[in-house]
Amino acid sequence: MLLALVAACAAGSNAAAQTTAPESRTMAPGGSTFVPNPTIRKVRCVGDCASRKRLRGGSLARIEGRNLGTVRKVTFHGSVGRRDDRRVTVTPGTSTRRLSVRVPLQALTGPVSLQSSKTVKSRRSKTVKILPAPEIEPNPVLTPAPGPSQPGAPKLETATSRTKFYFGGTAVRFSYRVTHPSPVNVTIDLLRGDGTLAFRWNPGAAQPGQVLSVVWRGTLGGPLAPPGRYSFRLNAAAPSGASARSSAAGASSSSDRDAFDLIPHIFPVRGRHNFGQRGARFGAGRGGRSHQGQDVMAKCGTRMVAARGGRVKAKAYHRAAGNYLVITGTRSGQDYVYMHLTEPSAFDKGDRVLTGQRIGTVGQTGNARGCHLHFELWKAPGWYDGGRAFNPLPALREWDSYS
Ligand SMILES: [Zn+2]
Repeated sequence: MLLALVAACAAGSNAAAQTTAPESRTMAPGGSTFVPNPTIRKVRCVGDCASRKRLRGGSLARIEGRNLGTVRKVTFHGSVGRRDDRRVTVTPGTSTRRLSVRVPLQALTGPVSLQSSKTVKSRRSKTVKILPAPEIEPNPVLTPAPGPSQPGAPKLETATSRTKFYFGGTAVRFSYRVTHPSPVNVTIDLLRGDGTLAFRWNPGAAQPGQVLSVVWRGTLGGPLAPPGRYSFRLNAAAPSGASARSSAAGASSSSDRDAFDLIPHIFPVRGRHNFGQRGARFGAGRGGRSHQGQDVMAKCGTRMVAARGGRVKAKAYHRAAGNYLVITGTRSGQDYVYMHLTEPSAFDKGDRVLTGQRIGTVGQTGNARGCHLHFELWKAPGWYDGGRAFNPLPALREWDSYS
């Protein structure tokens, strides 16, 4: 009865009255303060959004609903279990119908709930789709380079943004600074693991004291560079001819200076896993048909990432596949198929995905016995586009060995 009365009162109040905290108006039986539970009607993106105004980690979200003026905590529940929950503390606002909150970088697709106190909280909202946060380029720290240097040569400092570079959307950045009384001429070499030259940049004169950089996206004038170890080397020559290098000739003698691994794929299940029994293999019998992929067994809720970035070709629910996602790999000539995801991926058809970006979690939706990723690889032109599925186990084993 009291509840109904309070509800009617709140509904009938004008804008000015709404700025008054509800607890100052109403006392529950026994003298304790009564604060109505907040409710969520809608969550939308109002700042730093992904394309088509969608939410992603780091976006500014606006929650619309009722009784939001006393909310102190917002929880993004993500997928299965509590480990991926992300909670944000908010300062109680002046509006009872709107609340702004910054989506945590690690927040995942899932319901959202609000909390005003231990006992006053909202129900969980419907699933709110949250795309992964954009990749943050590491900010490397420049250090003096130990390479050979002639008398009167410029002093060099260098840094490299990554030690592992997963091909497919990201890049590796080499930064440098020269110290000298006058501008110096520089070139930057990209060396293979055996010390041979793979590529050279000729930026020309470098201003002393400025931090400059080159970015490499993993290709060598067209094709993708072979996987393996690479390193950057800065060569600088003063007008006098005195020159210096950031590392000795040949990567082997300069150890790991500005070196990184180019890795074309990452293993898609990021947690304990195994490849199951014979029935989990490619080609195993499936009631008169043949198993088109390899199953990777893992606990439900285990994080799943894109083995190779690319463009989403399909995302849907199918009664056998469950929630599934198909990604056409960036320059790999293959389609990558992920099935039985706990929830639909936050990515939609047409979206770009980076290698290693979270696409969902291991589940058992559709026709699945036990939690696992059903993974397929298709040769171009790909998945139900005239391509054909082939055994992905050798590739999975390889990726598993280094990532
Ligand atoms: Zn399967």
